[in-house]
Amino acid sequence: MNKSSHSGRRQLVVGNWKLNGNRHENAILVRGILAGWQDNLNVDVVLCPSDVYLQQTAELLSARSIFLGAQNVSEFWQGAFTGEVSAQMLADLNCRFVIIGHNERRRLLKETDEQIVQKFIAAQRANLTPILCVGESLQHREQGLQLQVIKSQLDAVFSQTGKECLVNAVLAYEPVWAVGTGVTASPEQASEVHCFIREQLGANADKIRILYGGSVKAHNAAELFAKPDIDGALLGGASLNPEEFVSICKTASLIWQH
Ligand code: PEP
Repeated sequence: MNKSSHSGRRQLVVGNWKLNGNRHENAILVRGILAGWQDNLNVDVVLCPSDVYLQQTAELLSARSIFLGAQNVSEFWQGAFTGEVSAQMLADLNCRFVIIGHNERRRLLKETDEQIVQKFIAAQRANLTPILCVGESLQHREQGLQLQVIKSQLDAVFSQTGKECLVNAVLAYEPVWAVGTGVTASPEQASEVHCFIREQLGANADKIRILYGGSVKAHNAAELFAKPDIDGALLGGASLNPEEFVSICKTASLIWQH
C-alpha cells in the first residue's frame, strides 16, 4: 500500500524525548538511530530532546538529514522572563520545529489557549515550524465530544492567527487517553478526527501535514499511516528506542511514494 495518488504531503515522524535522557544516554540513542539509518528514506524526521541537549544532539547528528525540534517555547520574545527559552534562541541552535500545546503542558502545567496562541506566533516569527497538538480527554471521547473539543482548540489559534499561517505549521492529533498509555486510537478513530481537522484548515488544507500521536509503535504504525489523512506520527515512548524509532521511520518511508 502507498500514498502516491492522494497528496504531495511527505510523511513526517517526530520523536519527543520529553524529560528523559542525559549526555551518555543521548549518545547511545542517536548512535543507535544512525546505525539503522538510510539516507534515502522518503520521510522527514525530527528529534526533540530537552533544550539543554539540543546542541549535543545536533553534534551527534552531524550532517545527517534529521531535523532538530524543541518540546516547548516561551510565548515571550525576549526580556525579563527568568527561566524561559525563546523562539529565537531555539532558531539560533538550528531548531527547525517546536511542539506547541502538548497535552502534558496543557493539563499538567496548565498552559492556556492564549499562551498556546502566543507560542505559535512566536515560533513562526522565528521561522520555526510549530507542531500544534490537539486532542480530547477520555471523558470527552466517552461523551462523544471529541470533534467539539478539537474544534475549540483549533479555533483558539485560528481566531487570532487566521488559517493562512497554517501552511508553515504541522498539526498533531493526540487523544489524551492514548498518549503514554499503550492504548492506540484505531485507524478508523484517528482517521475520523484527521478528516475533521483537515476540513477545518481552509484553502491550504491539502498541503498541511496532520500527525497522529498516542502509543504509536512499530507494530501498529503501518495501519495508521495507511490512512490517507494521517501524514506521520508524533512519538513519545517509541522515540527512546532506536530500533523501534527507525522501524517506524522506515514504515513511513515505504508507505509514501512520490
Ligand atoms: C507524546 O507524548 O506525544 C506521545 C505520543 O507519547 P507516546 O507515543 O508515548 O504515547
